[in-house]
Formats: sequence, structure tokens, C-alpha cells
Amino acid sequence: MKANRVIGTILGILLIVFAVGAYLSDEPSSKTDTGRIAILGAFLFGLFTVGGNLGSSKAKPQVKLPETKPVVETKNCPSCSKPVSADFTVCPYCATPLKPKCPSCGKEVSSDFKLCPYCGTDLKK
Ligand SMILES: [Zn+2]
Ligand SMILES: [Zn+2]
Repeated sequence: MKANRVIGTILGILLIVFAVGAYLSDEPSSKTDTGRIAILGAFLFGLFTVGGNLGSSKAKPQVKLPETKPVVETKNCPSCSKPVSADFTVCPYCATPLKPKCPSCGKEVSSDFKLCPYCGTDLKK
């Protein structure tokens, strides 16, 4: 399959080179309508062949790409620095509450906040 694509690409390039060469040459046959259509056809066919071969060789690896793993948001425990999932409420390693709630307004705050960002309550008291 790979060798076929290489041959196809080379054939396509040869067709383009032939078409351009024939168009630029002073041969009378290239100045007639039929000659021009033949040259244009060869040129377009060459482009199509090269494009198709390069395109298919590029498209194949994309199909083989492994599926990306679902992104699990992680952060580090502020107390023991071990990686913990962002939706954990308590660190499983050191039992530090990861999502403490403000005692005043009840909103979720970070355990390293000194003040509640919602109501200004001092969280370190
Ligand atoms: Zn911890
Ligand atoms: Zn608060």
C-alpha cells in the first residue's frame, strides 16, 4: 500500500512536470485547444493524484491515534502536597479537608484561604 502511494505520488508529479513542460514548449500540438485540454487534464490529474496520495498518507495515522483519556482534574493537597482529585472533599492521605465551608456564609472555600472571599469572614480563627 505504501509503495503504491509513493509510485502514485511520483506519477502525479511526473504528470504535472510533463503538463507544465508541454505548455511551455513551442510544439504546435500544445497550442491547439485539444492540446491545451490534454495538458490541463494531465496537470489536474497529476495534482489530484499527488494530493490524494499525500492526503491519504496523512489521514491514516490520525485514525490510529489512541483515544485521549478523560481529563481528571487534579490538584495537590495543601497539607501533604500529594496529588488529589479536584472533587475530593477530604485528602485521603492526611485527612485535611480540601473543600472547607465558610462558617459564616456556608460557601465552599479553599483550605489555604485566610479570609472567605464571599463574606470576608476570618477563616483562620
Ligand atoms: Zn493531604
Ligand atoms: Zn463566607
